[in-house]
Amino acid sequence: MRRSADELAKMRRAGRVVAEMHEKTRAAARPGVTTRQIDAVARDVLERRGATSNFLGYHGFPAVICTSPNDMIVHGIPGDYRLEDGDILSVDCGAIIEGYHGDAAYTMAVGDVSAEARRLIEVTERSLWAGIEQLKVGNRLHEVGRAVQSVAEDAGFSVVREYVGHAIGTAMHEQPQVPNYWPGTPGPTLKAGMVFAVEPMVNAGGPETRQLDDGWSVVTADGRLSAHFEHTIAVTDAGPEVFTVP
Ligand code: MG
Ligand code: MG
Repeated sequence: MRRSADELAKMRRAGRVVAEMHEKTRAAARPGVTTRQIDAVARDVLERRGATSNFLGYHGFPAVICTSPNDMIVHGIPGDYRLEDGDILSVDCGAIIEGYHGDAAYTMAVGDVSAEARRLIEVTERSLWAGIEQLKVGNRLHEVGRAVQSVAEDAGFSVVREYVGHAIGTAMHEQPQVPNYWPGTPGPTLKAGMVFAVEPMVNAGGPETRQLDDGWSVVTADGRLSAHFEHTIAVTDAGPEVFTVP
């Protein structure tokens, strides 16, 4: 789906709200703070900016962000978990402005983390930007996943298969999906006005995942660390435009 200039302007605004959620939640996430308190910080941004949440109520999800510590890959529910020095924390945020969606995630170090954790965070973010670079008019969509996978695997890490990126617009999750690996076919040809959420989930160990009994939280099957970075990006004639940066 190709978005008009007017639609892209609304998505740009939604993206800026998500960027502010990142900035404020990142500043709030310190040892001793609960993930529920971080959710409250994100709710405050949505309220002040006149935005609504695309996460709250999504298939019954009870919060406006997902908070996924350590071996949790994605979809963690904010709650009583209290951050500790040495944790890594993935935070996924979304916002709606005038019916148009933004969606972006980051992983951060809480206090002093291991060298492996630092490297996992750095490589995952770098894999996202390698994927974003592929969002050019005339390119094929699955070049994104090929680039992400190459960065992650060259570093000795693995890429999650069960959860993927997506087109985004008047719904958070639109077709087509954006795999973080080469799926064996090139995928659709990219055109100006298409908007995607690219979101590599990279594991320090194997790619296998497991869902917890809460019906949401997804963790690594081997218990090793996982990181997640995401941006909402438009394909434009001038190259990729990232909406979810300040
Ligand atoms: Mg997200
Ligand atoms: Mg997403």
